[in-house]
Amino acid sequence: MRRKIVVGNWKMNKTFPEAEDLLDELAERLKEEQDDQDVEVIVCPPFLYAEMAHDLCTDEDDESQVYYSVGVQDVSEHAQGAYTGEVSAAMLSSMGVEYCIVGHSERRKYFGESDAQVSRKVEQLLQNEITPIVCCGENAEERESGMQFDVIGRQLKEGLFGLKPLDFSRLVIAYEPVWAIGTGKTATPGQAQEVHAWIRNLVQEQYGKEIARVLPILYGGSCNARTARDLFAQPDIDGGLIGGASLNADDFIAIVNSFEK
Ligand code: PEP
Repeated sequence: MRRKIVVGNWKMNKTFPEAEDLLDELAERLKEEQDDQDVEVIVCPPFLYAEMAHDLCTDEDDESQVYYSVGVQDVSEHAQGAYTGEVSAAMLSSMGVEYCIVGHSERRKYFGESDAQVSRKVEQLLQNEITPIVCCGENAEERESGMQFDVIGRQLKEGLFGLKPLDFSRLVIAYEPVWAIGTGKTATPGQAQEVHAWIRNLVQEQYGKEIARVLPILYGGSCNARTARDLFAQPDIDGGLIGGASLNADDFIAIVNSFEK
């Protein structure tokens, strides 16, 4: 059995009081409404709110009850030093952050994040005991010209395949077709499953059957309370990376509860 995971990527949304309200509501409602305790829920707010997210993720009376894990949306590729504005993996780890999204298409597109940087960020995270959630995926043009497997293959090989097997086995991968992110055009379950199975097979060729078998591969791209159930029912889809729909507790919790019983 593979891990089942739902990640909320808040991107650059919510003021401090709005973030506090949503984190509070998520903790309270996940406590009552999460159907399957085996689903790992990860919330990735902006850096500024990571500490608050960590404070609010446990039960007030029993800190061993954790309702969601805390992640962030990026990390510096450098360990420390004169890099104004950057946030290091060691800082995040010291604040209780357990997960970090890397190589999101918005970072690749707007901030020029390369596969080489993805690789360095992943190294920093692993050295600091933070689990990287590594995004890959093709844009609309690449899909139209049938290049999706070339693009994803390059992102995985250059970003990740330098890792030793033990390190690779600590990753979570997210397939996020760029044409589906924030567009309302969710990939069909068949389209997503095809790519997930292909990724798993590529990982098997590189790292062997066992590592590929247990690797969590999440789908991201306009996944919502309506589409999550059919996507999560696919054999190689282990959950979702959720953008827009993670900003509302009703939608996010409905997605968390979308796995087959
Ligand atoms: C994302 O940003 O990772 C994402 C999947 O966004 P959305 O769900 O809004 O398409």
